[in-house]
Amino acid sequence: MIIPLDSPVLVLNRYWQPVNTCSARRALSLLFLGHAEVVHSDEEQSYATHDFASWLAQPISDGAHEIVHTVQRAMRVPKIIVLAFYDRLPKKDVKFSRENVFRRDAYTCQYCCKIFTTADLNIDHVVPRDKGGPTTWENVVCSCVRCNTRKANKMPKEAGMIPRKEPKAPRWRPFYSPMAEDGMPKDWLRFVELPQASVELTA
Ligand SMILES: [Zn+2]
Repeated sequence: MIIPLDSPVLVLNRYWQPVNTCSARRALSLLFLGHAEVVHSDEEQSYATHDFASWLAQPISDGAHEIVHTVQRAMRVPKIIVLAFYDRLPKKDVKFSRENVFRRDAYTCQYCCKIFTTADLNIDHVVPRDKGGPTTWENVVCSCVRCNTRKANKMPKEAGMIPRKEPKAPRWRPFYSPMAEDGMPKDWLRFVELPQASVELTA
């Protein structure tokens, strides 16, 4: 179980672009210091921002937020904050991992273009390892077990199997955050561009 102060908060820059995730503990301290405001949506899906005093004045029992207790009183745990000063685009590196390769390629086999669950996906080295291909963002793609077996240790041209998208290191997005591993809070989705499945539509 995640305790409320450890729950994930999406961090937006001044232009409301997602730049990071942090814990609610950190978000509340940024809020308290006046470096950030809480972004909160009501049922009509309109967004309001709150500074510390205004957030503290919010009724606590809306059912959608966890609660923390300060010395004086209880307050809601924010899910999204917007930074007051930071206006640059994210320059964070995405951690290279099997799961993040799947996320980058939208769980889509780069050879047959079908979408699979993690259990049915492999990491394929475009230039095979035994031919000197490194394990890097630029040389691995998401592949289904069948395509992976078919390609084996052949070069793409030799196998007649070219990845649909040229593999590259991805730009940081909230869904690469380890905090989003159990699924992203639904409040974030409005701000998060999900990876596009590289499925090609045939006429
Ligand atoms: Zn496949």
